[in-house]
Order: sequence, then C-alpha cells, then structure tokens
Amino acid sequence: MIIVLKPGTPQSAADEILAQIAAAGLKPLCLPGTERVVLGALGDERVLGNLHLENHPAVERVTPILSPFKLVSREWHPDNTVVRIGSVEVGGPRIAVFAGPCAIESADQMRRTAEAVRNAGAHGLRGGAFKPRTSPYSFQGLGVEGLHILRDVARSCHLPAVTEVVEVSDVGVVQEYADAFQVGARNMQNFRLLTALGNSRKPVILKRGMAATVEDLLMAAEYIVAGGNPNVILCERGIRTFETATRNTLDLSAIPHIKRVSHLPVLVDPSHGTGVREYVEPMARAAIACGADGLLIEVHYDPRSALSDGHQSLDPDAFKGLMQNLRPFIEAAGRTA
Ligand code: PEP
Ligand code: MN
Repeated sequence: MIIVLKPGTPQSAADEILAQIAAAGLKPLCLPGTERVVLGALGDERVLGNLHLENHPAVERVTPILSPFKLVSREWHPDNTVVRIGSVEVGGPRIAVFAGPCAIESADQMRRTAEAVRNAGAHGLRGGAFKPRTSPYSFQGLGVEGLHILRDVARSCHLPAVTEVVEVSDVGVVQEYADAFQVGARNMQNFRLLTALGNSRKPVILKRGMAATVEDLLMAAEYIVAGGNPNVILCERGIRTFETATRNTLDLSAIPHIKRVSHLPVLVDPSHGTGVREYVEPMARAAIACGADGLLIEVHYDPRSALSDGHQSLDPDAFKGLMQNLRPFIEAAGRTA
C-alpha cells in the first residue's frame, strides 16, 4: 500500500501513521520526497484495509501496490535505481561491463586476464572462487584461496571485484574480499541465502534461474530488498528451453519487461546465455539495444586452457574487439561507454 501525504504534512504526523502501521503488525516504510512524503505499508492486505488510512486528515490518497513484488516494483519506486559496485555505477547513463574468467584458477591466470580486460575498458572484474558445477567431477573452484587472489588482483588493477556466493556460511568471507556478491542461477531461489544477503549492504548481482520466470526473479530480489539491502542488480543469463543449438536461450524480451515493472538495474550475461563464443558479441550488442544497463562477460587469457567454461570465454583480442564494436550501439541507445 502506498500512502501519499498532503504537501506540508509535518514529520510528527508521518511518524504517527508509521507507528499505527507498525502497531497493526505491518512493515512501515518511509520514502521522503522533495515535495511530499510517501509512506508504505507491507503485509496482509486485509489488515491494511482495516486501518482506514484514507480517512486520516494528513493523507491525500492510498493506493494499493498491485504487483506481487512490492519494493522492487516501479509502482513503489518510479525512478530508476542506480547501484554502486565500488566506484562503478550500474543503472546510470554508463554501460557497466564486468569481465573475467568463469573461475579463478591461479594468481597468474587472474592477473593476465584482469590486465587484459582492464586495458580493453572493462569497469569491473569477475571470477568465481566457489563454483557450483553440474558435475561433481568438474573443477569446484579454489575457495577462500581464490578470494585472496581475486582481491589482490582487483586492487592492483583498480577494478571492483564480483564473485559468487553459494551458501549462507560463506557470506561473511565473500563480503570481506569482494565488492559485490553474485548469486548464481542455481541458487536464485535459495531463500536462506537471499535472506542472509538482505542483512548485508554489499551489492548483489542476482542471476535468473534457468527455469525461473521474470516474476520468480523479481520475487527473489524482493527477499533481499525486504531484508534491508536495496542494492540489487538483476541479471538475465538465459533460460532452459527446447532449443539445443545454444547452451541456454537468452531471453532478451525480459529486459524491456523488467524495465517496465521494476526500478532495479539489469545486466545481461551473453556468455552463459549462449554458451558459444561467437555469439557473445552479437548478443551483447542486442542487450545494449534493448535497454540493458551493462554486461557480464567471461574472458580468459587463454580459453583453451580454462578449467571451466573455456568454450564460451573470449580471448583478450576478441574482448577488445567487442568493447570497440559496442561503442556505436551504446551511443545509439543514448548511453555512454
Ligand atoms: C558464472 O557466472 O560463472 C555462473 C556459474 O553463472 P550461472 O549461475 O548464470 O550459471
Ligand atoms: Mn561460467
């Protein structure tokens, strides 16, 4: 429920209404604006109705938030949200590009790859230390040792670092070493993990599950924001369909839809979205054209030797070419590189 107060309403009246909302067992929210104060109440709609806030002398109007996700909806927050990862803004005019290997394999591999992506113009470094793999026999990541490498390399290259967190007990250590959490497709509906990330203030890149609807994705984001962490970035990374020519089907129609119903910034991951190195650049261009705020791209200094996802990773030259070729698309979309 959105409660718009009359212009000039004193803070004491707003506080009184917030206390009434809390006393009814609902979650009170306050969104101070330049012209008027907007309040929110989250919880059981029937209890909300019983409060009859529309009759309060300080209230101009009461409107329900119709979408099932409330805090991440545009109904609640009409302006775009900008989330900062280190010094990089995601959701502002600049297209933010995070690049790096699928997995952190060694200090040398990370350094060579990070220098290449930085020199090509990437704004942030990605790399997994904890790898949730489909097969138990595949490389599972270096764990905490990988986090040490990531932080050292990211600092020396002056790039913010993004890495995946796979379980609640790792939230503390990942928070210490990285500038943003990544929640992987396989964990999008790990509600205990989402709740734990709601207690942090570090940004979260929330990837869409491979069998998740856009509404499922937004409801997962709602867990984090309702828990108290507003710094959520959504990521479209492809979904499972009957198509086998590509690893996943990159659902770019989700981007304008998310932009319509939510204020959160959105990245596109064309690497996992296609699983084919040659398709990464065309889909990156398409992502910019349809309104994405940035990209998450797998790059390895030597993809043939990569311990995971080498087949979809770009080498430094291909990544440099992609960054150059994106420029006219970024300009045509009214954004900056
Ligand atoms: C990754 O980014 O390397 C990854 C595992 O992605 P996803 O969770 O989208 O499969
Ligand atoms: Mn990967």
